Amino acid sequence: MKENYFIFFSNCIPVYGVEYTAICDFQNGKIHHFDSNLKELIQLIDSRISLKQLENRYIEEKDGLANFLHYFYEKGIGMYTNEVESFPRLPIQWDHPSKVTNAILDFGIETDYSVKSILDELDYFRCKHIQLRFFEVIPLQILHDVLSVFKESDVLSIDLIFNDDIPLFELKKLYLVTSKINSVTIFNAKEDQIVGNLPFLISYLNRKISNEKSCGLITKEHLSTGLHLFMESHFHNNCLNRKISIDKDGNVKNCPSMNWDYGRVQTGNLKEKILQALNHEVTQIKKSEIEVCRECEFRMVCTDCRAYLEKPSDMYSKPLKCGYNPKTGIWEEWSTNPIKKDAIGFYALKHII
Ligand code: SF4
Ligand code: SF4
Repeated sequence: MKENYFIFFSNCIPVYGVEYTAICDFQNGKIHHFDSNLKELIQLIDSRISLKQLENRYIEEKDGLANFLHYFYEKGIGMYTNEVESFPRLPIQWDHPSKVTNAILDFGIETDYSVKSILDELDYFRCKHIQLRFFEVIPLQILHDVLSVFKESDVLSIDLIFNDDIPLFELKKLYLVTSKINSVTIFNAKEDQIVGNLPFLISYLNRKISNEKSCGLITKEHLSTGLHLFMESHFHNNCLNRKISIDKDGNVKNCPSMNWDYGRVQTGNLKEKILQALNHEVTQIKKSEIEVCRECEFRMVCTDCRAYLEKPSDMYSKPLKCGYNPKTGIWEEWSTNPIKKDAIGFYALKHII
């Protein structure tokens, strides 16, 4: 029996840019990238017209059409069927039971805020995932003290980021303090290495980070095929929505790199400060509203950055640390692009590049 339709799988969703198209495959964690020549064909398949209509549209390019359909089939992007209605599209929607989905807590040598008081509030907002970042060398005893506070909280997972090498046996000891540790990332390591045979993932990275200013980098490798990010990106800012941060001085912020804050943890009503952060308009700036990104086929799989902008005075400008050009489809080094020079100076990023 000959099937009458070729459709994309529900887990393969096309996103159209000004020149290129990305088909985001959430089940296999792949992003398929196509140039403008295939845009119309992808749109027609996506509209679920019949094969007969497709063949009529490409009557003089029948072999080419068959080749491309075969390619989509081979790559696991789509299939032939007679039962289109049995394969409904994934609804584009997003919600989350937590008012704060995750939080970043930064620590320095002189950090003196109470982790316990923050966790009490984060439990109220049902925050289950925490990232702890240590950009300076922290005595191990302080690390143990910080982690032990989490034993009594509702937090489910902790991701640790360090800027100096900590021996493996010391990392294992941290896990004895709390088994909520999900991952450890160590920057400035001698070489890249993944240790995956422990209850938590350890990544050693031979990459330098200095402080919170190292955040916000957007490269091809940073694109994510998580369905959660894809859906959230349609409605909110995918880096700042329902997230809060405490910088190393104890200031409540949308992210530690922001140049404004809502006051210190140590003074006043912490819940109100968190609510102010959650309700700030920056948390709702969508990729489709951002200059350049709105034309980019990666806009739903790319984590945004609102702290470092190509035009610092324009909250809707492109992330500074992205070197992708949606018109050419080329990734270039962002830090040497002359149009970014003024912004690099404005954020004083030169010494961390
Ligand atoms: S807004 Fe930028 S600097 Fe802040 S957490 Fe997001 S990516 Fe990092
Ligand atoms: S930051 Fe914008 S232009 Fe760069 S890859 Fe992401 S969506 Fe595309």
